[in-house]
Parts: sequence; C-alpha cells; structure tokens
Amino acid sequence: RKAAYAALRELPAVTLDGIAIGLYMNAGLLIDLPELDATRAEGIGLYRTELPFMTRQDFPDVADQTALYTRVLDQAGDRPVAFRTLDIGGDKLLPYLPETVEENPAMGWRALRISLDHPAMLRTQLRAMLLAANGRLLQVMFPMVSEVAEFAAARRILDMELERACEHGVPLPSHLKVGVMLEVPALIWQLESLCRQVDFISVGSNDLMQFLFAKDRGNARLADRYDVLSPAALSCLGEIVRAADQYGVSLSLCGEMASSPVDAMALIGLGFRNLSMSPSAIGPVKAMIRTLDVGPLRQYLADATRQTSHSLREKLREFARDHG
Ligand code: PEP
Ligand code: MG
Repeated sequence: RKAAYAALRELPAVTLDGIAIGLYMNAGLLIDLPELDATRAEGIGLYRTELPFMTRQDFPDVADQTALYTRVLDQAGDRPVAFRTLDIGGDKLLPYLPETVEENPAMGWRALRISLDHPAMLRTQLRAMLLAANGRLLQVMFPMVSEVAEFAAARRILDMELERACEHGVPLPSHLKVGVMLEVPALIWQLESLCRQVDFISVGSNDLMQFLFAKDRGNARLADRYDVLSPAALSCLGEIVRAADQYGVSLSLCGEMASSPVDAMALIGLGFRNLSMSPSAIGPVKAMIRTLDVGPLRQYLADATRQTSHSLREKLREFARDHG
C-alpha cells in the first residue's frame, strides 16, 4: 500500500471529472516539516503555533519565535503556510501561564479570547511572524472566533504591528492574507459580514462539530454518538460552502474529517476544494480523489442530506464502492 501511495505522489489530486483539489498538511513542530516534501502537499494549511510553546518552560520572546517561524517558511519555500495564532486554553495548557480552572474549558477562556485579553502576547507573535516573513507571503489565521468583532479587533492589532514594522524598516510581506478558523457555530450566521473582512476561512471541524452537537470532542463515551456524516452536520458544512462561494472567499477545512477518505469524499461532494490534513492521510485521500466522480456525488448528497437518518456513513461507503 505504501508503495502505491508513493507512486501517487507525483500525480495530481484531480477527480475523474477534472476537479482539482488542493491537498495541504497540518503541522506544528519542526519535525513535521520534512513531510512537505515526502507527501508533496501544496503547503501547510494549518500550522498550530501553540505546539512549540507547550514544550517550553517560559514564554518564547520575539527573537525565539522569529527564528522558529523563519525555519518553517524557509523549509516551505514557495509553498504557503497558514500560521494559526495561539490556541491555548481548553485542553492545551502552558506551564508558564497561570492555570485557569474552568468547568467547561472547551468553551472557556481560550484561543483568541486569551490573545485579545493579552494583546501584548498577540503582538509578540504577530511581530515575529512579520519579521519571519521578511518580504514573503504571510498567512495568519485566528482560532475560535465567535463574532466578527473579535476578528476585527485581532485585525487591528495586526495592523498596529504592520505600522510598527514599517517604522522599523522591516520589509512588509509580499502578500498578506488574514483569515479565521470557523469553529463556533454562531459565526455561520455572520458569514456575510465576515466574508467582507477576511481573505480566507478554514473550517475547524473538530471544534465546530463539538459545538454543533454539544459533544465533548475528548469524551470517549460520546466518540461514536453523533456522526459528522449525518444530515445535520453535512447540511451545516454545505451552508458554509454556499456562503463562501457567494461572497467569494477562499475556503478550506483543516479538522480531522479531512484525514478520512470517506469524510473527505463527502466534503468534496459538498463543494470543498481545499483540505488540510495529517501528512499520513494525503496518500489515501489522493487515491480516493483520483477515482471520484463529483457530479453524481453532489446529486446524491443533495438528496441524502434531506433524510432523517443518524448517519450517512454506510451509504457513502457504498457509494464509494459502487463508483470506483
Ligand atoms: C479544529 O478544531 O478542527 C482544529 C483544526 O483545531 P484544533 O484541533 O487544534 O482545535
Ligand atoms: Mg480547534
């Protein structure tokens, strides 16, 4: 099997009916980077910046962070990297931040909420990203945005850092793309105004599904209770695709769903054209794409999402078997 995936490496991720799918990888540590070459991913669709923070004893300063992000961008070369600002809190704790005991940490003081309450921390991180980009493309995305105002506040902080970079003669990025992770359902009803302000949206399906179903993503008892291939979940994701298309914003998905070939198939059927996944999933997902005919799948999903079944997983597996 491994050999078969190796042979696939050089082949494009294009469906039988000629639709090109952008396959990106998720990363967070420097040891992940060689996977870019190994998998031929088009870039890093999600760089989880908190991972290196978690392995340290103190908060990395601008110089430390700049060195780190520079290595990431150097290794990526001309492949794009979407740096996600710190997503700490919840289940990801930092030894040097005072521990916050919360009853519902996943819905608590985490991610961009912490960054906006500690703007100096966010500024440090954005300053380091600008220094590392050093005239190259920079893509920044903010996690756990619940309302457009939070994005706007984060964007203002980024603008302050851009001004500061200008004053200090730091070369500005050749292109700057600023986006959000769509992980909180409330944002789905703000897509029109959100799309006017962002360059891209990346769906964090792990958190989005946790909040959509009110199902703790880490609770083993609930792991199989609800399915992301249910009519409700697929309708929700389809809604996001329609809005992104309508308002002309580039869309991808970077949660675990993208790593499962049958889930990825459904996402492509719904209209997703960019997926970011763990490196080991790129071979299997590309193999699926190259035998997929999107036309019939799109029609199938349009009908199936009107059903009331608990899950469409079995039916989608059958669909995959019957169609290649
Ligand atoms: C997600 O929520 O889907 C996501 C990609 O972010 P994380 O898994 O780091 O919360
Ligand atoms: Mg998340």
